[in-house]
Amino acid sequence: MSGAGFILAINLSVAGLFAAAFLVVAVYDLARVSARWFAASFAFGMLNFLLEFVVAAAAPSILLRVAAYMAFVAALAAFTRGIAHLHDRNPPWKAVAAIAFGALLLRLAIDDMARESFTRLLLYQTPYFLLQALGAWIALRWSRPGMAGKALAVMLSLSALHYLAKPFAATLSGGAGRSSESYLGTDYAMISQTSGTVLGVAVALLLLAILIRDVMADFTRQSMTDKLSGLLNRRGFEAYLDECMRNAAETGLPVSLVIGDLDRFKAVNDTYGHAAGDRVIVAFSRLLKDCITDPRSAARIGGEEFAILLAGSDLRTARLFAENVRSAFALQEIEQMSPQTRYTASFGIAQLTPGEAAFEFQERADAALYAAKRKGRDRVEVAAPAQTHRNARKASA
Ligand code: GH3
Ligand code: MG
Ligand code: MG
Repeated sequence: MSGAGFILAINLSVAGLFAAAFLVVAVYDLARVSARWFAASFAFGMLNFLLEFVVAAAAPSILLRVAAYMAFVAALAAFTRGIAHLHDRNPPWKAVAAIAFGALLLRLAIDDMARESFTRLLLYQTPYFLLQALGAWIALRWSRPGMAGKALAVMLSLSALHYLAKPFAATLSGGAGRSSESYLGTDYAMISQTSGTVLGVAVALLLLAILIRDVMADFTRQSMTDKLSGLLNRRGFEAYLDECMRNAAETGLPVSLVIGDLDRFKAVNDTYGHAAGDRVIVAFSRLLKDCITDPRSAARIGGEEFAILLAGSDLRTARLFAENVRSAFALQEIEQMSPQTRYTASFGIAQLTPGEAAFEFQERADAALYAAKRKGRDRVEVAAPAQTHRNARKASA
């Protein structure tokens, strides 16, 4: 086997491994549409390498030569579609279809031209260049965040340019072979197959890294989200609280915490059933979402207990916020519930004292909530200052 034939065989196995890797991601997470297209792309790549072997081994018919060429066009077309999905863009279908159709006509038209001719080599590579340039443009224009996103845009641009460089490489290295059978014996075939492998492997590894990072970020998000309300759960709340406290320590800006608890909720469940209780929880959560600007501010931290972190707000603003939510909820009619019945919630609020620990901050807001419950519910109570709270705790210990 020639050197280039050997590389072609390696390419075939590498394309197979990547097709399988992307397929695993696609099956594992059905929502990750881009992985499906990347798997399809590498499968078409395998087909291209297989056909290239056949073309090099036997005196090929024009059908076989065109099929090998179009298999690679299909690989790049599927790849472009995957890149569009990865960047949350609509796939540029029309442009891809136009290039693919143009590629077919072009390939038929240049079949009779001398293989060594520079024009033929350039025309041969043009559709490859155009398809890869389309992917590179998407990745550059809507670059994904982080180093991997930028590296992908750069690698795709290099890959697009490498198709344009191939005619020059062929001419400088002594040609692409007089016939398709002699192609695999040329230096150009070595250069062409090796550069393709290096760029292809680099791009595929970057894509796998980006996809796996996306899958993990989605799982983390899911593990921090409460299903019923769509708000953060306790775990998500604690992560956001950590972040807010760190920011507050750096900037010196105030942070306030509002803890709200639905009043006499057990009675709602006992009277109307659990499903009705859930509807009240959902209605209260929706109201909270409407009242906040950062979706991470509100969390459902217990059955009918909610926490709202107001970064940049002092006690006065937090009180205004809680009073608004309280009165809006008390006036709200709830879907499929008797229009005469109204539901209420009680609130405790605290502002973070510099240097205060997270548990104490929450404890103070909780104590204020219990004071609101004690004083008759459907009201907002402000927490005692940190020092008073500590003294009271010491006295009761
Ligand atoms: P209070 O005014 O003192 O807060 O009284 P309460 O009845 O609201 O408080 P309590 O803690 O006694 O009861 C809370 C109830 O919330 C008990 C539980 O059945 C109900 N609950 C907890 N999680 C859910 C849930 O996801 N769905 C529904 N429907 N009910 C829940
Ligand atoms: Mg309650
Ligand atoms: Mg409760």
